[in-house]
Amino acid sequence: MIPVNTPLLNGNELNYLTECINTGWISSEGPFVSKFENEFAKYIGTNYGIAVSNGSAALDIAIKALNIGLGDEVIMPTFTIISPAQSVVSVGAIPVLVDCDPVTWNMNVNEIENKINDKTKAILVVHIYGLPVDMDPILALCSKYNLFLIEDAAEMHGQTYKNKLCGSFGDISIFSFYPNKHITTGEGGMIMCNNFELNERCKKLRNLAFEPSGRRFVHNEIGWNYRMTNIQAAIGLAQLERINDHVKRKREIGIRYLNNLKYIKGYELPLEKNEYAENIFWIFGLVANSEKRCNDTVAELTKHQIGTRPFFWCMHKQPVFNRMNLFLNEKHPNAEKIATNGFYLPSGLGITDSEIDYVSEKLLKFSNL
Ligand SMILES: *Cc1c(COP(=O)(O)O)cnc(C)c1O
Repeated sequence: MIPVNTPLLNGNELNYLTECINTGWISSEGPFVSKFENEFAKYIGTNYGIAVSNGSAALDIAIKALNIGLGDEVIMPTFTIISPAQSVVSVGAIPVLVDCDPVTWNMNVNEIENKINDKTKAILVVHIYGLPVDMDPILALCSKYNLFLIEDAAEMHGQTYKNKLCGSFGDISIFSFYPNKHITTGEGGMIMCNNFELNERCKKLRNLAFEPSGRRFVHNEIGWNYRMTNIQAAIGLAQLERINDHVKRKREIGIRYLNNLKYIKGYELPLEKNEYAENIFWIFGLVANSEKRCNDTVAELTKHQIGTRPFFWCMHKQPVFNRMNLFLNEKHPNAEKIATNGFYLPSGLGITDSEIDYVSEKLLKFSNL
């Protein structure tokens, strides 16, 4: 079986974990947490990093920390994982969706300005699958209309837009450290910001909104227990030491697939690069020229014990949101097409070159039938 993802844990992970056990520091109070926060913030180039239990938790905190609430609108892509949309919906705010670009799979920045009105509070960008969103037009819109920029960089550790690291653009940016991301903590996430008050507020919200001063156990607002443990941070710190190798290997994996599949017919392949970034290939995705071809390919690869995943499903097609009367009858044709016809191949850091070649060979053979 070639799973769709296997992580790489071959650095100091075991040493640091042993230290957790030997010292007894296993909760969020342990020393690896602030070490990991400081080192990752330094790497990304932000003043602050707030480690949390996962990337979705980071988004919950980001939305609340910016005081986005009832009736506010947040412009975001329809083609994304549900996390950012559910964070917006759960505070009573409304996601305003835009379609994606058919080639980069990222939100179409040309659709944004028309959707800005008095209720718009923020633009939430989600960098999808390996190439970043075109940030310059978004930065211009945020300053023209005085909007917050929230950056979901959960798939972009080490990726840059015009040579500036993703996750350093937002008023608040977030990362995930799930095992299929470029660096992992098992489960985990981090919020990045430059503003001191925002940093303090995020730290408070992740810790049940305990007040930093005054009588303990007296609360003025609702927060969450979204803390990261010392055990997670220990793994994260070891992973961070190797992040440049991970990024380099991810690019090698993507380029090896691209070369192997160069002449394949019936599928669109990801771009190796565009005018502002080199693809970091968080996953290696393909879009088949029909839904049937997509399903048949996945079935064929499954037969050969090759793991695949379908692409994200559009937010405007989510039954849970439609039942809330959100996005009824909306159409976003580019996103609908890649959501129904797209899937990705095993592309985690643990994959070997011979596994990539095996997967490519089976796929090529099937495409020629
Ligand atoms: C993985 C991911 C998340 C969610 O992170 P979790 O740690 O799994 O909660 C959010 N946004 C994007 C774009 C992701 O890829």
